[in-house]
Amino acid sequence: MSRPVAIVTGSSRGIGAATAMLLAQRGYDLCINYQSNDDAAERVSRSAAEAGARAIVVQADVSSESDVARLFDTVDKELGAVSALVNNAGILDVQMPVEDMDPERIMRVLRINVLSTFLCSQAAFKRMARKHGGSGGSIVNVSSMASRLGAAFEYVDYAASKGAIDAFTVGFGKEAAPEGIRVNGVRPGLIRTDIHASGGMPDRVDRLGGASPLGRGGEPEEVAAAIAWLLSDEASYVIGSMIDVAGGF
Ligand code: NAP
Repeated sequence: MSRPVAIVTGSSRGIGAATAMLLAQRGYDLCINYQSNDDAAERVSRSAAEAGARAIVVQADVSSESDVARLFDTVDKELGAVSALVNNAGILDVQMPVEDMDPERIMRVLRINVLSTFLCSQAAFKRMARKHGGSGGSIVNVSSMASRLGAAFEYVDYAASKGAIDAFTVGFGKEAAPEGIRVNGVRPGLIRTDIHASGGMPDRVDRLGGASPLGRGGEPEEVAAAIAWLLSDEASYVIGSMIDVAGGF
């Protein structure tokens, strides 16, 4: 039997890398996507191959329409029909109140976190939808608890971008379900990855994780497990839903 094919955006590091590894172990072939960190992407690809996956590495800025087209075309040619997409690539910027944010920063956050999800989901839909001759599939969007908490004085632009992902998941979930495509999402809390360094607080998880009801920050593998479940047939009746993976925050 052929293995299902998954694309995980931003899978050179953090939650994306953990998701790619778990999917490799669960029998998927994989496209590892990244923006600039070739070495990290190659490392994930090698580990996925050791776990038995056919793995390819594709550099592509997922907020660029032409890069997304090239990403999906490469997967068509090298791995075959994609049936799973994880819209994981995301960024945040240094902490500041809304009054100090310049338009370039806000647009960059919205482009990379939101436009990327639209572009990759469109490309996946064109391949998976029954009306386009596809066999269906599953899409998981990586949001954040920030969409519910607001990230005041830190990065409200980021929180707003994740609010858009939540709404996209509900709306696109309804459009895609009749075509055999399930769209869902996860809302991670404080997870131990490099992203916090971009916000200017590399030790954020250790400093703040203890305040969660569970008393600790989360690990990327704990988010990957929820993503893998949503992608799987075990979640066959789950549409437009978000799973909070946030230790009770
Ligand atoms: P991370 O460790 O900083 O990794 C980010 C990944 O995204 C890297 O693989 C990076 O590639 C890739 N990337 C960034 N911009 C890209 C672009 N334009 N095109 C393609 N790839 C791009 O981040 P993370 O913490 O794992 O975050 C993953 C997702 O989880 C994000 O959507 C984030 O908002 C969400 N999230 C994280 C947390 C948390 O506490 N960590 C909490 C809630 C939600 P390079 O390696 O090439 O730079």
